[in-house]
Amino acid sequence: MTSLLTRPNGKMLVSRDNKQKTTRIKVKGCTIGGEQIIVIAGPCAVESEDILKETAFKVRGSGASMLRGGAYKPRTSPYSFQGLGQEGLKILARIGEEMNMPVVTEVMDSSDISLVSEYADILQVGARNMHNFSLLRKLGRIDKPVVLKRGMAATIEEWLLAAEYILEGGNTRVILCERGIRTSERWTRNTLDLSAVALVKELSHLPVLVDPSHGTGIRSLVLPMAKAAVAAGADGIMIEVHPNPEKALSDGEQSLTPKGFSLMMRELDVFAQATGRRI
Ligand code: PEP
Ligand code: MN
Repeated sequence: MTSLLTRPNGKMLVSRDNKQKTTRIKVKGCTIGGEQIIVIAGPCAVESEDILKETAFKVRGSGASMLRGGAYKPRTSPYSFQGLGQEGLKILARIGEEMNMPVVTEVMDSSDISLVSEYADILQVGARNMHNFSLLRKLGRIDKPVVLKRGMAATIEEWLLAAEYILEGGNTRVILCERGIRTSERWTRNTLDLSAVALVKELSHLPVLVDPSHGTGIRSLVLPMAKAAVAAGADGIMIEVHPNPEKALSDGEQSLTPKGFSLMMRELDVFAQATGRRI
């Protein structure tokens, strides 16, 4: 099989051949890619200051290191809640500051990069934008870490090449995130490809996260898949949490309650220790 994982004047920047040690990405006192398995938690979308504050307070209390929340939401229907935009960014940054948690949020459009960078500690490229090469190139020139989610139907090679676009621009702080791919299976939202995590850990020095929330779409599957992610060698997990999932404006079915999240953290700790790491 021919591979596009070649670079004209040297080794692929993403590859472990190029850099043996796993890249460690430091963000405000947290290190992704080190001994600690980083847990990024929060609602799918920033809905209001109160909801985000309650969520952040509770997930932090259970041991989450970073806070997530979308201000620009890539929704399948244009009639679904699209996110609060800049107001959402402001709320996220404010709560992150208050709770002393770095914040991760999605940038959907190249024209929003500078605005999102003002508020976010880490910018996220969503699955739907993994193939947006002009966005990737622009993110290659910023001075903020980028979480690059795997495209819904992307091969591992395409995912690594998307990361290469960012690295090639000079931004070396890329974090990969497996979030499930679309297969013929209909009973789960996506098929969480954990073999990709183990393989990418072999092929690349970049840290790898797993998002079992979007990876399964089903609340009860988040804990077992988070455990499996740790066993597969993930450097972190991203989990959707909402204080009242039934009322969530997006992705309530896959969101844990703060109590469910706290339970998950306790159970994960044992798994982390079994793999020589910690939560
Ligand atoms: C998200 O994490 O908010 C999100 C929209 O995920 P994905 O891009 O993986 O669908
Ligand atoms: Mn979501």
